[in-house]
Amino acid sequence: MRVLVTGGAGYIGSVVAAQLVAAGHEVTVLDDLSTGFAGAVPPGATFVKGTLRDCAAEVLSDGIEAVLHFAAKSLVGESVADPAKYWSNNLGGTLALLDAMREMRIRTIIFSSTAAVYGEPERTPVEETDPTRPTSPYGASKLAVDTALTEFCRLYGFGAVSLRYFNVAGAQQAADGTWLGERHNPETHLIPNVLAAVTEGRRVQIFGDDYPTPDGTCIRDYIHVTDLADAHLRALGACRPGQHSVYNLGNGAGFSVREVIEVCREVTGRDIATDVTGRRAGDPAVLVASSAKIQSDLGWRASRDLRAMAADAWQFTQARGHSLAGGSGGSSPRGMPSRGGLGGSSPRASSERAGQQR
Ligand code: UDP
Repeated sequence: MRVLVTGGAGYIGSVVAAQLVAAGHEVTVLDDLSTGFAGAVPPGATFVKGTLRDCAAEVLSDGIEAVLHFAAKSLVGESVADPAKYWSNNLGGTLALLDAMREMRIRTIIFSSTAAVYGEPERTPVEETDPTRPTSPYGASKLAVDTALTEFCRLYGFGAVSLRYFNVAGAQQAADGTWLGERHNPETHLIPNVLAAVTEGRRVQIFGDDYPTPDGTCIRDYIHVTDLADAHLRALGACRPGQHSVYNLGNGAGFSVREVIEVCREVTGRDIATDVTGRRAGDPAVLVASSAKIQSDLGWRASRDLRAMAADAWQFTQARGHSLAGGSGGSSPRGMPSRGGLGGSSPRASSERAGQQR
């Protein structure tokens, strides 16, 4: 199948793009590189640099049959500081994409949604039918897209699946041996932060140990990015016209911040010094998914545990450290400069140039 992966130069999009290529799909990645890295686009995919608003229509017109939509802003704190950026990118950008899809009669879409749509849950594990009361513009903008997708399915015969991720972690090796993993700037997520602290020899901050949990630190449901990507491929095969399905994606088990740090200690074999600081605004005490629905509907099940996530993220961190230390001039774990300069104003031009490199 010819598929478009928006945001395929980002963490999750790049891993999904790699799995799609491996499964024999013809993959085009559209990414504006505002937070992604051209070097993360997996081998075998065609890369187009551009925004949804400017380039989606032209890219879709190239025989695309389905879309996996990851391109979005995804920092909760930033969304509170600059809500308009989130509404414009996440909702506005997606509506532009949906309009272009409607025009081209492409009606299959897998959407990267989030546990943040639930806000502070009343109970755990969280089920898909639980109330959605996002506590940040980020969560609200993702929920607005979920609502739009329900309408596009009902009114225009789209077939959509929204996957609501809990805490995604780990890394995956691409076909050429490159590690595809998480690198945000600034990095706010626990596992990459702990591993960066190990390599940089600094202390890890624990944001609060006075929560109503066994060790006082927050509990989250961590899912390996490879398992997550597998769910996307299953969802792609399950899209039906007129139907919008929503699935939570997690492991169904929670780990505290202290437990995560302990696993990172075991995997790295290094001491990890910690300081307990104040709570981070907006952090719920416990966030654990029920993934029973996707298990029964699509036969999906998480198969990698927290140790595998920490071990793979550590491989990625070390590979990245190597490429930085190697003086390649870029931050790509592929060991070459980011190809951020590829994009011209014409998406086709950059697509062709990127294609030649692959
Ligand atoms: N956390 C922490 N120190 C850090 C980063 C995160 O104690 O340097 C905590 C955070 O407060 C939360 C948990 O780790 O309780 C997971 O945070 P993360 O940002 O990875 O994911 P979130 O659940 O916020 O999406």
